[in-house]
Amino acid sequence: MRRLGCNSIHIGGGEPLLKPEKICKILETAKEMGINVEYVETNSSWYSSHGSACDLLKRLKDRGMGALLVSISPFHNEYIPFSKVKGVLNACLATGIQIIPWIADFIADISTFDEQKPHSLDEYSQVFGDSYVARLPTRYWISPGGRALETFREVSEQHTLSELVSRNSAGCLELTGTNHFHFDLYGNYIPGLCAGLAIRKNDVGKPLDPEHYPFITTLYSEGIGGFLAKAEELFAFMPKNNSYSSKCELCFAIRKYLVLEKNIQSRELQPAGHYENL
Ligand code: SF4
Repeated sequence: MRRLGCNSIHIGGGEPLLKPEKICKILETAKEMGINVEYVETNSSWYSSHGSACDLLKRLKDRGMGALLVSISPFHNEYIPFSKVKGVLNACLATGIQIIPWIADFIADISTFDEQKPHSLDEYSQVFGDSYVARLPTRYWISPGGRALETFREVSEQHTLSELVSRNSAGCLELTGTNHFHFDLYGNYIPGLCAGLAIRKNDVGKPLDPEHYPFITTLYSEGIGGFLAKAEELFAFMPKNNSYSSKCELCFAIRKYLVLEKNIQSRELQPAGHYENL
């Protein structure tokens, strides 16, 4: 990280606080190397009591963690009861750790429900109206990938293949964005926050070899149209849908086909579990 000019990071998951020894070690190592850890993210699933939460946060604070980003959203409340989130927030206050609530705007909505249980998006729609899910992207930054594709497919405007290709005729310059970037736990750089695409850490910081990264190279230089054409020509890809909500949904459909149906073993379509579980 230092070699590539990155002096400040955040740590997310999965759930980084599930393995306290490992997050402690990472914080210690970052400190030794002079890399600032801006914040650690948590989903609060680990919370069991005020005392144990304060003990853990104190250990992390002693190792340099100044701020905790705490997930607060209806997507998160589908899995984690709000009582755990409140417990972590209280433990942060007690131990003097700065809270980054992600995002506080949802606290009023979530507080409508029984805080001891998780609640589905359907329950939110029943209480706040049928358009609740469709309105969420105006309140929360949604990356068009992962399970968000499925959640928002039903409520998004659909586009035909030719519309998507003509509207996105340039290459995907998103792939070069580095304002906010992630490495996964396998040591892969995730270009453009495009989940399921990967660049090995040793290949970062120099021009990509098109031989090893043909799909990313095509997406960058020719965009979704070039990627679709190559998938059809070389791998007999046939779109299952007549329309898609975005170029990224189509991109994911092609990549999933390549990994699961054509068994493409590639260093750039990683981790394979991403495709197996969505
Ligand atoms: S089309 Fe694919 S490569 Fe381009 S921004 Fe979307 S997910 Fe990333």
